[in-house]
Formats: sequence, C-alpha cells, structure tokens
Amino acid sequence: MNTTIPNRGFNALLASVLAGCSLLLASVPASGASAPLRVSFNVFTDALGNRPATGNLDTDEEIQAQVDRANQIFAQLISEVRIENVGIADLRGVPQWYMVTNDANTLTSLQNTASVNPQAYQWRNDAVNVYITASNVTAIASLPPNNNIILMGQGVFTTTLAHEIGHILGLQHTHQNQGAGCTNVSCGPSCTTCGSNCTTGDDGFNDTLPDASCWGANNSIALNSFGLNYNQLNAAQQALVDMTWRNLMSYHDPDNRGLLSDGQMDRTSIQVSRDRWSLYSKVAVYVNPVAAGDFRDGTFIFPYATILQALDANPQPGRVLVLSPGAHSRPAILLNPDALINTPLDIVTRKGTAAIQDAPPAYPLPTALEHSTNRPVREAIIAARHSARQRDIASVMAHLLEAERHAAGAERSAIQLELGQRFRAANQFATAKAWFQKAADGTNHEALRSHALNQATAMEIRAGQPDRRRPETNSVPKIK
Ligand SMILES: [Zn+2]
Repeated sequence: MNTTIPNRGFNALLASVLAGCSLLLASVPASGASAPLRVSFNVFTDALGNRPATGNLDTDEEIQAQVDRANQIFAQLISEVRIENVGIADLRGVPQWYMVTNDANTLTSLQNTASVNPQAYQWRNDAVNVYITASNVTAIASLPPNNNIILMGQGVFTTTLAHEIGHILGLQHTHQNQGAGCTNVSCGPSCTTCGSNCTTGDDGFNDTLPDASCWGANNSIALNSFGLNYNQLNAAQQALVDMTWRNLMSYHDPDNRGLLSDGQMDRTSIQVSRDRWSLYSKVAVYVNPVAAGDFRDGTFIFPYATILQALDANPQPGRVLVLSPGAHSRPAILLNPDALINTPLDIVTRKGTAAIQDAPPAYPLPTALEHSTNRPVREAIIAARHSARQRDIASVMAHLLEAERHAAGAERSAIQLELGQRFRAANQFATAKAWFQKAADGTNHEALRSHALNQATAMEIRAGQPDRRRPETNSVPKIK
C-alpha cells in the first residue's frame, strides 16, 4: 500500500483503520514494533584469549537465550521495551577482569575504566554494556542515571538479564533496604524471620508488599503484611502477595519470576523517556488521552493527548508511538497517509490493550426510531422489529415501507438508507439504487447526500452485473 511507511506493524494498523474497523492492539510482538533498548554483550577472556568453558553464560546461545527470555517477560508484561541485541563479542587484552566478582566497587571500577577506553573495552555510549566474567556469580547493574553497564557471571538464572534490565529501567529490589539479617540467609519455606536482625525492605511502590530476600515461601509475605496465612487471604490480598513473590525484582524463584506492578511499569516508562535519545534505537513517543496539562513533549510524564499531536510534533524517523490503554481517537490524516506520514513509524501499547476508535459518523441520523415522537413511524418500526424477531422478512420490509411513508427529515433519510441496504442484501440492486437515490434527493446534508449517491452508483453497477450465484430473493416486495 504505502511504501513510505516501511514498518509492517503500522501498515497492518493502517490497513485496519482504512478498513473502517475499530482496532484492538494486542500484545507487542517480540521484535518490530517496540522501544528497542540496545544491549551490547562482551565476554572477558583469559590471558590466552579463551572464554570460560562452562557456566550458564559461556556460549552465544546462552547469551541469546537470556535476551529471548527477557523479551518474553517484557512481552507478557505488555511492556513497550524490548532488548535489541546489538552484538556478542569476545574481549581480549584485558584478562584482569576475567575472574572478577560482581560487587558494586568492581562494577564502578569497570565502568570508569571501560568508558574512557572505549576501544579496548568495546564500550558504547549508545547501549547498555554487558560484560560477562568467568566467575560463578550472577549479576549486578548500575541504576540510573549511570544505567549503562551490567556485569554478569556464570551463575545467572534464566531471568537474570531481565532482572538486571529492570535495574537499568530504574527499578529496585522488592526487598530494597532490608535489614542485614535478611541477607544471604535462606531459612526455608516455613519461617518468617530469617536472621535475628532481619527487618523487611521495600521498593517504594505501594502496589508491592514489604519483602525479605531470605523468605522461602509466599506465606512469609502474607503473614508479614496481613497477619494471616496465604490461604486465608482474600483474592485481592493474594494478588498482592503473588505480585511480590513472583516479582521480577525479587529474589524468590529466580528462574520463574516475571511480574511487575503498575507502579513499577510506570517507573520503567519514565526511564525509557529519559534515555530515549541515547539507549534506544527507536524513540518512544507516549500518547495518553486522559493525561491532563498543557505542556506535552511525548514523554511518559507529559504524553501527547492524541495520536495526531504525536505525529505532528515528532516528524523524526525511528519513532514508536506508545499508546496508553483505552480509547484513542483516530487521526484524520490516517485517511490519507501519503499526505503527511513519510517517516518510519510503529505503534504499540503498554500495560494492556488499546483501541483506536473509528472516526465519528460523517452525518447524523437517528437510530432508535422505536422511540420516535412520530406515532405512525414509531408503530411501524416497532412492528418491523417484531417481524424481524419472527424472521418474517417480507413483513419487515412492508413495515419499513409503511414507516417511510409517514416519516420526515432525518428519520425518513434513515429509513430510506435502511431500505436501500435491505434491498441490496436481497440482491435487488435496481430497487436498492432507487432508495439510495431517494435518500440522496431528500436531504440537504452534504455528507449524507454524497454517501447515498455513492451507494446508488454502486447499485447501478451491481444491477448491470447480475450475480448468477446469488439469485434475487422473492421474499421482499418490489418497490413501486
Ligand atoms: Zn538485582
């Protein structure tokens, strides 16, 4: 269709919009339409130039599996973020990092060293730099605003990269700032206190519960927050416990964690906006019709109110419109995309499905004629509806014709169009054309007249090309 819009996702959207239907945007595909976060992988080698031979992250396939799992999690969350793997390379010549562990000091030291030696460390300023060591640790990431580095070891869980990207996106642990007694102690499924000095931590979001990393069962979260066992909680309380227990930013069940709360999701989108010019290969432009305020720049905090605003304000290529859940009005220019849209464009949703409503009707016509104040019209329409329930088509048509005789103004136009449509459905195209022509002649409304004339013309063509597979139905009366 339109060659100036190369993205398949948008063309599909456009096709649906042009087809005149209300489109439901479901979850974001794993690639294509998304806000792609560039991530660059570098594997430290030993002095001989070799990678570790064993571990959970020693092959390209295992690295890619981390990317795939992370993208699967973000897709399930209906996040706009996807990881774009921009490359996996061996890093020879700096073997002093081969066996380092993943404490904060090491991370900072590597960040400081690599960023000023970009060639030796293949450091990128436009990506998150993941460095992989041979040591048997998991990973550590740098939080914003220096959120450009992750150090990973061979002890990673399947969801570790997704978890670290959570930190890159501004998220802290569900047990953040917990007491020292909670650290590195696992006291099993039945206990509620880990060490003698374990006080719970919190991530600052009110839709996750206080947490301790050493808790071995969700019952501990339930008892701490509600004073009841998990199976005594109501559904809303259990959902809160689940949200924390299975949270991507928790330490529980790290091969299966993957949830983020609404508050956490919002925080990630705020960070996407902050980093949109540096770390992403497409610029996320947020659209939320219910957001208030005059200042709008397409960030998550100050989203555009309409798709049209976003398109007008962001002519640069490589953008992705991120729609809030709910209804969005269809921009009129999409009816003529060649006129204005000439840059690559994706449209995705976040945190749920969004619908783009079709444009409002071009002409106003009444629909509930059973409530007409014109009594003979009202009675004929009520009779027609009754006949329709009896599937007595001939009777329906007779009542509609009766209603049309007594109707006036917009009600008459509505009934005439209905008659045209019903004769068209019965393959009586000449009769249908006559009714559409009557509707056109009987109105002063320009758009209604235009619509009716178009239909009349279409019926004239159809009348000249009888469809032999669909013989004319005799169940409706001929118009006189
Ligand atoms: Zn972490």
